[in-house]
Amino acid sequence: MTKEREKNRIFTIQKHAASHLHYDFRLEMGGILKSWAIPKGPSLDPSVKRLAVLVDDHALDYADFEGVIEEGSYGAGLVLVWDMGDYEYIPPSKGGDDPMASIRIGKIEFILYGHRLKGRFVLLRLKGQEKNWLLIKAKDEFAIPDRDIVSEETRSVLSKRSLEEMKEEERMGILKTYRCGKDGDRQ
Ligand code: MN
Repeated sequence: MTKEREKNRIFTIQKHAASHLHYDFRLEMGGILKSWAIPKGPSLDPSVKRLAVLVDDHALDYADFEGVIEEGSYGAGLVLVWDMGDYEYIPPSKGGDDPMASIRIGKIEFILYGHRLKGRFVLLRLKGQEKNWLLIKAKDEFAIPDRDIVSEETRSVLSKRSLEEMKEEERMGILKTYRCGKDGDRQ
């Protein structure tokens, strides 16, 4: 684990109660947020492989979005920021510092410095597929084999709200509402 980071790229995980609850995992690269939807959420157990479906890139300023995507818009439902922080890209042995290059070859390794997720992870594209990847925790001091972090930690790391509390705020009409444009920008 290196203490001094050369690059300060951000990652975010948004818990998204759309028609199916999922976790949107996003890594900053090339000025956008490369994004995967993870139905079961991330795991700290290195023996667990979580399906991560590549979805549309999002704009950088979407990283801290929390609120409601209105009915009728794509992904309508509540969104909270489940984890956020910096990440350190680990280039393949032949070097370079372009995470997009790793996306193209279908394997990207990185170290997360989040509130909840820490340490080394890998995203691996399934053979012969474009959109289906696996998110896997590497074995390091931050791996916790028996911990189910998504059921233990349910609240936003930013506002500390749960989805249920946001739903109640929405019902009372005191939840700030954003609308998500087709490029993921707030409007
Ligand atoms: Mn989503």
